[in-house]
Amino acid sequence: MPVADFEPVIGLEVHAQLLTRTKIFCGCSTAFGAAPNTQVCAVCLGLPGALPSLNRAVVEMAIKAGKAFGCKISNRSIWARKNYFYPDLPKGYQISQYEIPICAGGFVTVPGLGKIGLERIHLEEDAGKNVHAEGGSEVDLNRSGTPLIEIVGKPELRSAEDASEYLKSLRLALIYLGINDGNLEEGSFRCDANVSVRPRGAEKFGTRVELKNINSFRFVRQAIDYEIGRQVEAIEKGEKIRQETRLFDHEKGVSRAMRSKEEANDYRYFPEPDLPPLVVAQEWIDSVAVPKLPNQVMDELLAAGVPAADARTLIADPRLASVHRRIGGDPRRAALFVVGELARAVNEKEADLGTLKFDPLLVLEVFRLQDSGAISSTAAKEVLAELIRSGKAPQQIVQEKGLAQVSDSGALEAVVDAVIARNPGEVEKYKGGKKNLLGFFVGQAMKDLKGKGNPGVLNGLFKSKLGE
Ligand SMILES: [Zn+2]
Repeated sequence: MPVADFEPVIGLEVHAQLLTRTKIFCGCSTAFGAAPNTQVCAVCLGLPGALPSLNRAVVEMAIKAGKAFGCKISNRSIWARKNYFYPDLPKGYQISQYEIPICAGGFVTVPGLGKIGLERIHLEEDAGKNVHAEGGSEVDLNRSGTPLIEIVGKPELRSAEDASEYLKSLRLALIYLGINDGNLEEGSFRCDANVSVRPRGAEKFGTRVELKNINSFRFVRQAIDYEIGRQVEAIEKGEKIRQETRLFDHEKGVSRAMRSKEEANDYRYFPEPDLPPLVVAQEWIDSVAVPKLPNQVMDELLAAGVPAADARTLIADPRLASVHRRIGGDPRRAALFVVGELARAVNEKEADLGTLKFDPLLVLEVFRLQDSGAISSTAAKEVLAELIRSGKAPQQIVQEKGLAQVSDSGALEAVVDAVIARNPGEVEKYKGGKKNLLGFFVGQAMKDLKGKGNPGVLNGLFKSKLGE
């Protein structure tokens, strides 16, 4: 059977670091990049007798995710010990949630794919990090005890491309919720993929293989595609797929077996004796506000008439979407400014979306100046560029740069008269029917006015003077 006769079945498990200032069970900082083993204490080192105490902010963020993704939030969930030995886990166990997670069910909305179901979202602590170097391996425990949510998706994805789209949507949603920074390189958003194949039309799932710690969207596609091909080839040869965990080597483009996959009972889960059940009152759940998710913002932009391409650019970065919202006015015009002038200024390092120099409300002021004829459309672009750079008031920029447009017909009339007086030949031809000479006259007047005449007013003046 060729690959096309097989159907891939993919489910993703995402570990997302929560953006709290301190760790889940102690007061140590979660800041990334500190010198190794400087952000540790007895609790997150797992020293005997040290007792965990739960960080409330962690629970709040899990509730936010649960509400945003339509999960059922448990009023009472329990902590469990997940036991295993690893050098970056000095306690010998991870505090996680097993039998009753804080969130169950729900879905992630993925453009083009619709709703992809979730099994659960649970809270847990991260382990430390093994750092492998030339001279040997070292352990950095700064990350030990960093709060995570694990978002377990249902096996509803059917291609590597879909898996990548799902991950992008999930990542962006977590960023919009303000609970994860979406930083794949620093490992604050990481993914394991469960992949199996089955003959098309079959009900039963094939044996699944887990691909560990994939840290880029490109690798997700590569690793899953490779795994699908590998499994189909093995089945073709009459081999059995082994349930195992594999690591993808993105340099060689192949995966290798890491260990045979643990069954849940290999971890000897049992309720964590040092922590009481996590009780979350309904009032608490109700009080947690959930910001709009990217797909909701997208729908609103499209409904407001913003072109789809502009809308996609806007939602891809919540900071752009936020500037757009704060500008107000006509959403289409504001979108043009954000994906045009502003995006260009950011690309050219004239603006930083993290620390904007201008008040977005002032953009409307520039639009008003343009609409009233006080400045030309060319001048408006210049004012907007300067507004982005300096944040100065639009009126001030117009004055400083001498961009005011002459719209006063009294002042323009003298110029129009002069142009008519010095071009008798063209005036004759115009009156004889060559109406396209109007552009020539307006051009001459603009020259006299050094480009600051209002072309609309000039047009009208020439027409009335030359007899329409
Ligand atoms: Zn600590």
